[in-house]
Order: sequence, then C-alpha cells, then structure tokens
Amino acid sequence: MNTKSISLPKLNNLNPTLESTALKLMEEAGELSAAIGKFRSLSGEKVTLDQQEITNAISRELLDVAQTAITMMFVLEEQWDVDLAEALSEHMNKLIKKGYLTLDMND
Ligand SMILES: [Mg+2]
Repeated sequence: MNTKSISLPKLNNLNPTLESTALKLMEEAGELSAAIGKFRSLSGEKVTLDQQEITNAISRELLDVAQTAITMMFVLEEQWDVDLAEALSEHMNKLIKKGYLTLDMND
C-alpha cells in the first residue's frame, strides 16, 4: 500500500475548541481553493505568478489545512474522548468497501 505520512505538531500556544478548529478548517480550505483558483484564472484576474510560485502557495495552504485537521484531532481526543485509532480503522475499512482502495496480497 502506497502511503504518505507527515508529522505535524500539537500547537502549544493556542486554546483550540471544536468550533474554532472547524471554522479555521473552513477558512484554510477557502484559502486553498483561492490559491487553486488563481492558478486556473477562475476569478477572471490575469495570473501574474509563475507556476512555481502558485504551486508553492497551493502547498502552503494545503499544509495549513492539514495542520488544522491535526489540531482538530487533538481536540477530539483530548476534549471529547474520541478514539482516533478506531476512527482511522473504520476510515480504512470504508475506503476498501467503497472500492477506493484495494489491498494487494503483497502489501
Ligand atoms: Mg492559510
């Protein structure tokens, strides 16, 4: 199975809640969408950045989304007693059941 793993920190100078992280996640998703929109000139503006600058901006916003998702996972575990390992197992089973992931016997 091909995977990509990243480690992102628990932010220790914030006091996030479920609501604040949910709003932040939507804000960051919007910024990611805006960066992609610029790349494709979806806003109608003339694109003045080169492709490298745009893909760098997209990558930065994608990592903001990931960081916020990680922060929300810490909130769920620490404030709402969620077992994310169990949720991850259910998630993997869902991907298989939907046909998005097949497990090769050699994996
Ligand atoms: Mg951002």
